[in-house]
Amino acid sequence: MPSGKALKIAIVGGGLAGLAAGFELAEAGHEVELFERSRLLGGRATSFEIDGIEVDNGQHVFLGCCTEFQRFVERAGMGKNLYLQRRFEARVIARDGTVSVLRAAPLPAPWHLLGSFLRFSHLGMRSKVEIARALAAASRDGIADGTSFAQWLRREGQGEEAVRVFWRPFFVPALNVCLEEMDAREALFTLRTAFLSGAEAARFGYATVPLAQISEAAAQRLARVHRATSVASLELDGSTQRLRALTTTSGERHEYDAFVLALTPPQLQRLLGNPARYALPPLDAFTPHPIIDVHLRYFKNDLQDFDFAALIDSPVQWIFRKGVSYLCCSMSAADEYLRRTTDELIRLAWEEIRAALPPLRDALLEHSAVTRNVEATFSAPATLQRPGPQTSFANVAIAGAWTATGWPDTMESAVRSGLAAARYLIKEP
Ligand SMILES: Cc1cc2nc3c(=O)[nH]c(=O)nc-3n(C[C@H](O)[C@H](O)[C@H](O)COP(=O)(O)OP(=O)(O)OC[C@H]3O[C@@H](n4cnc5c(N)ncnc54)[C@H](O)[C@@H]3O)c2cc1C
Repeated sequence: MPSGKALKIAIVGGGLAGLAAGFELAEAGHEVELFERSRLLGGRATSFEIDGIEVDNGQHVFLGCCTEFQRFVERAGMGKNLYLQRRFEARVIARDGTVSVLRAAPLPAPWHLLGSFLRFSHLGMRSKVEIARALAAASRDGIADGTSFAQWLRREGQGEEAVRVFWRPFFVPALNVCLEEMDAREALFTLRTAFLSGAEAARFGYATVPLAQISEAAAQRLARVHRATSVASLELDGSTQRLRALTTTSGERHEYDAFVLALTPPQLQRLLGNPARYALPPLDAFTPHPIIDVHLRYFKNDLQDFDFAALIDSPVQWIFRKGVSYLCCSMSAADEYLRRTTDELIRLAWEEIRAALPPLRDALLEHSAVTRNVEATFSAPATLQRPGPQTSFANVAIAGAWTATGWPDTMESAVRSGLAAARYLIKEP
């Protein structure tokens, strides 16, 4: 962009990627307008009211290593609304209700987890040795394109118990794909970044306010937010190879100097029509993966000193205590449960909860709701290079958690992609 000139910039898509891009550009002195098709901000990380209670569209966690997401929230003035563990600690519950805890000691990685791993009662010594060997291999191995994490685990001699009790409960929710479809490079990136890089990296964190509040705070920096306004088409200036204007579904036309398109692959495909014209890869090659969350409010007993836990051998991988007598049950890579009715999902989650948490065995379910996100995350086929922010039009950048940030489709990736798009536009005329 011409130095010193404040530009008028449109952001299409009010998820974390679009908001991070908009925030960065506004801070750099540009006039930023955001277009979001929903009345809510936050995209896939949002919240809304169900029966008078504001709930997240699904439980979102971040890890200590998600530094750009945390910095974004802090810059938006919402840092005090993020909880981050002082030390990594994860409670893991078996089907019979027995609990074992993985907890970091004040030692450098990877030794910080050694003591509690040796005491971890859900795994026999043989599985522990297998996992230790795999962790050692993970820190040195290169991976051939197209290798699934399941193949890598088999190659590293991981037995049934190690997969069932350790790899599946931690990695399926982290990447929202079953092990057979999981790209081994992404799984090893997560393992190295979260567990092997530093003792603080694996700490769990989550927002202590409904998620949409974070996005609302970030949007305060923008010149204008057009809610419930879907962008229907883009207008190219053939002579300058630049994008000139956008038109909304209600027919309003707006001109801008530059554009950030911060949409998911199918949404971007619909808007562009022909992604190749923008030098983008085929967007229908990205695969969506669902997440289901079951929200349960109960009365009678409550849980003491409980924040969250992983369940072994359960379709509910993680449960989070969201408030007094309120649990959120998260089901990742939930393809096979999508067709179940709301009642069936509630019954299933409630049975799993009562099996895992003895204090709730005689509790009564008071209120429940189910949120289904069919396109919760996207993965790229191993043969496809995820695109960066640049397009064939100098004044158009793309952003989105699915783009080439080096991270899987997460809030961290969304924020990184938005920052990359903003920097690309500011640098490139
Ligand atoms: C249930 C669930 C649980 C998750 N759990 C985690 C977790 O624990 N940790 C984690 O890090 N990540 C998690 N994720 C993933 C995370 O939410 C996403 O990676 C991230 O929010 C994606 O942000 P984005 O801005 O790239 O895309 P989106 O949030 O999808 O933003 C795209 C936006 O564009 C808007 N839009 C679409 N078309 C148009 C148009 N034509 N005009 C205007 N606007 C348009 C959409 O309405 C949307 O708001 C989860 C996702 C879900 C759904």
